[in-house]
Formats: sequence, C-alpha cells, structure tokens
Amino acid sequence: MKKVDTLIIGGGISGLSAAHFLNKRKIDFLLLESSNTLGGVIRTQTHKHFVLENGPNTVLNNNSSIQKLVNDCELKDKMIFPEISSNSKRYVFHNNNPVAVPLNIKEFFKTPLIPLSSKFKLLCELISPFQFQNTTVYNFFTMKFGKKFHDNLIEPFLTGIYAGNTKKMSIKHCFRNLWLFKKKYKIILIGLIISMKKRSLSFTFRNGLHELIKILEKNLKDKIELNSSVELIKKNGNKYEIVTNTRKTFLCKNVISTIPSFSLSKIIFDDNLSSILKKIDYNPIDVFHFVFKKDDIKNNLNGFGILCKPSDKKNYLGIIFNSKIFPHICSPDYDLFTVLVGGEKQKDILKISKEGLKKIIVNEIKDLIKCSGDLVSSNYFRWEKAIPQYNLIQEELGKSISNFQKKYNNFKIIGNYFSGVSVSDCIQKSELVVDELYD
Ligand SMILES: Cc1cc2nc3c(=O)[nH]c(=O)nc-3n(C[C@H](O)[C@H](O)[C@H](O)COP(=O)(O)OP(=O)(O)OC[C@H]3O[C@@H](n4cnc5c(N)ncnc54)[C@H](O)[C@@H]3O)c2cc1C
Repeated sequence: MKKVDTLIIGGGISGLSAAHFLNKRKIDFLLLESSNTLGGVIRTQTHKHFVLENGPNTVLNNNSSIQKLVNDCELKDKMIFPEISSNSKRYVFHNNNPVAVPLNIKEFFKTPLIPLSSKFKLLCELISPFQFQNTTVYNFFTMKFGKKFHDNLIEPFLTGIYAGNTKKMSIKHCFRNLWLFKKKYKIILIGLIISMKKRSLSFTFRNGLHELIKILEKNLKDKIELNSSVELIKKNGNKYEIVTNTRKTFLCKNVISTIPSFSLSKIIFDDNLSSILKKIDYNPIDVFHFVFKKDDIKNNLNGFGILCKPSDKKNYLGIIFNSKIFPHICSPDYDLFTVLVGGEKQKDILKISKEGLKKIIVNEIKDLIKCSGDLVSSNYFRWEKAIPQYNLIQEELGKSISNFQKKYNNFKIIGNYFSGVSVSDCIQKSELVVDELYD
C-alpha cells in the first residue's frame, strides 16, 4: 500500500487547481484521473484554422484564485479578452427578432423585453422590500415581477448557463449574488445595479482553454496518474484507503474529491451523502460548431451570442458568436458559431440522428444570420451528462456535505455541482480547501 499525504480524485480543472495549490506549498500529493486525458469538460479541439471549444468557451476573471493560477502558470500575457463590443452584447428573441439584453439600468428601463408592470414592481420594492425565501426560479420571478419578466429575460439566460428547467431550479443557488445582495441591501434593484456594475470580463487563451490544462499537466506530471479510476474509498483509522481500477491501494491523510456527484455517489462510504448525490440531475447537451463565409452573411449580429426560451420554438438552446468574441480563433474570411442543443427541456430532440439534427440546426442558423452560402465546415460533440442542475435539492445537498465534512474534516468535497458551476468558481473552491487543510 502506497502512502501519500493528500490524494486528489479527478483531473478536471477543480482537481488540477487543487494540485497546483498543494504543489505551491510543497505538499506530498497524488492526483488520480480515470480517463487518459486531463481537463475534464475543458476540451479544446483545433480543426484546420479554427479553435473549437466543446466545453467552456470562456472563463470569468472574477476572483483572486483564477488570477493566481494564471499568473503562476505564466499565462497572464497570453490571456485574450473579447472585443469589448462583443462581450457587452447578448441577445434574446423577442417576437422572433434578436433584441439585446439590457446591461445597465438605463437600458433596463428602456428595453421592450420587460413590460411596464414589471418595471413598476421593481420600483415598488424600493418602498416596501419583500421577504426573500428560497423557491424555484420560476416562482420567484413570476410572483415578484410577472411572467413576462421571467419568460423574456430570466429563462433564456438560465438556459444558457444550465440548460435546465426554471420550475425546478433554486433561486438561492442559481442567483447566489442576487441572494447575497438582497440579504445585505434588502432591495433587489440595488443588487441588480451592483451586479451590473461589477460584471467581470471573461477570457480565453490564444489556442483555447486547453492551454491552461497543458501547462498544469507539464508542471504536475510526476504527481498525476491517468487511467486510474477510484473504485473504493474506505476509512482506515483516522486515514483513508483508496482503491483504483488497477488494484492499486493508497493510504492517505487527506482526500479531495473533485469528481461529478454521480461518480462520487458510487464510491463514498456515507449512505446519506451518497443518496443525495444520486439526486443531482445532469442534462445531455450536443455541441455543434459551424463555419460560414463572412461574405455570405447578411445579418451581422455583433455580440456574445443569442439565447432562447421554449416559446421561441427553436431547436437549439443558444448560439455563441465565437469569431465575434475572439476574432483570432478563426480565419478572417469566416465566422465560427457554437450551437448548444438539448438540455432538460429539449431532451427528445437529441434522439434525432446527428446528421438529421445538424440539417435542422443549420437551416435555423442560416435563417437567423441571413446566410446565402453553404456551410463551410462543422464539428459535433455530445455530452451525456453536461451541467449539474442547481435545483431545490441544493439546500439539502449543502447541509449533507457540510455535515459530512464536519464528521470527516480531512475529507474535502468540491467540484461544480454546488457553490458555483463556472470554471472560476471551481478554481476558487480548490484554493479554499487547500487553505483549509494546510493553514
Ligand atoms: C458544454 C459546457 C459548457 C460550459 N461553458 C462554460 C463557460 O463558458 N464558462 C464557465 O466558466 N464554465 C462553463 N461550463 C462549466 C465548467 O466548464 C465546469 O463546471 C468545470 O469545468 C468543471 O470542472 P471540474 O473539474 O469540477 O469537473 P470535470 O471537468 O467534470 O472533471 C472531473 C474529472 O473527474 C474524473 N473522474 C470521474 N470519476 C472519477 C473516478 N472515479 N476516479 C478518478 N477520476 C474520475 C473525470 O474523468 C473528469 O476528468 C461549461 C460546461 C459544459 C459541459
């Protein structure tokens, strides 16, 4: 049995960041990854002259952990920020036409997306602030600001992040900042103004997000074992015994689990935690990349992308205008688009064959951008379990993880299925657990 101080399970960005922060402290650790590659859902692919992201496209530069990681990896000079105009515009459909989402309070009160009655309700809250109790996103916004506010603004936005169902999602956990601001300032409008002002820029690297993974792999390679799936975790006195698919056994003082909830549920020794982890839903998503000739496109939508709600009757969840955000990822004569399909509300569409689905989506996107020419190039990737859903079960999950960690305080659980799904949230949680274990 091999002894190691800290064992990290999973080599996505959460596991690699934890490894990085442990390495900085010169701690003895080992990272076990079940697949033959690192990065988890960060999957950059280069195809001809195009940089394609099958997972995250951009990372938010919104906390000190991500900034430290990028600096330590000497990638600061390679960060590429979007063309300002593109980053600031996101569209939703309104009466089948793309309309920009309001990004400041002035635009907010002018936008046709929000009916006058909703704007009035927002202002009324200044005089009589309402109680903020956890409920579904749908209930919260329809009750407080009206159904159109939810349908036109909130639903497309959350579809873009989680591909989920607002009738199941938890307001407290999907809108963590709004919840905190409401607690602090009592009034939602103040929270909205502050979050609009505090918007951070997102970034990528010249050759995509995998550049970060490649550097981490290079720096940490002696402390990583690929093709090592953890199949059993046992308590052994005040330590843990970890058994892999290759029948290797490790004895360690600390464990950091960064694997998805459905994986951890199968190997964790606590039945209560295991049963809650099993209840976290993940939705399937298809990712298409399409390239068209710039000259063939008449409707030149300049922005980050467009998001849909079910009543738009589109067969996709949203489109990212990649080459508008980052012109360097594509040859200058072409435009690259990423289309996300499926999620909780469109699961059935994924039963259509890949070619059939591609045909449907290409026609819809050509109609949107008024493209007269043929598709130049395309790429396809399926995530069977893409994004964890922040549904009402989050409250119980949070308590369960917290109780577990109180009982086994050298067993840390992080990852993307609670306290933030974004890459930068994952990195921040990783630094935090390393601090908790070693400060
Ligand atoms: C399509 C898509 C688009 C996204 N877009 C964005 C975006 O634009 N911006 C953003 O910030 N975030 C985005 N996200 C979310 C973000 O990318 C993820 O939440 C984050 O990368 C998750 O990282 P992780 O390390 O926690 O988990 P993962 O990346 O899932 O890594 C977990 C790792 O654990 C391994 N593993 C599993 N079981 C075991 C086991 N038993 N033993 C050993 N290893 C195991 C897996 O193989 C995997 O490598 C997106 C996600 C998806 C799917």
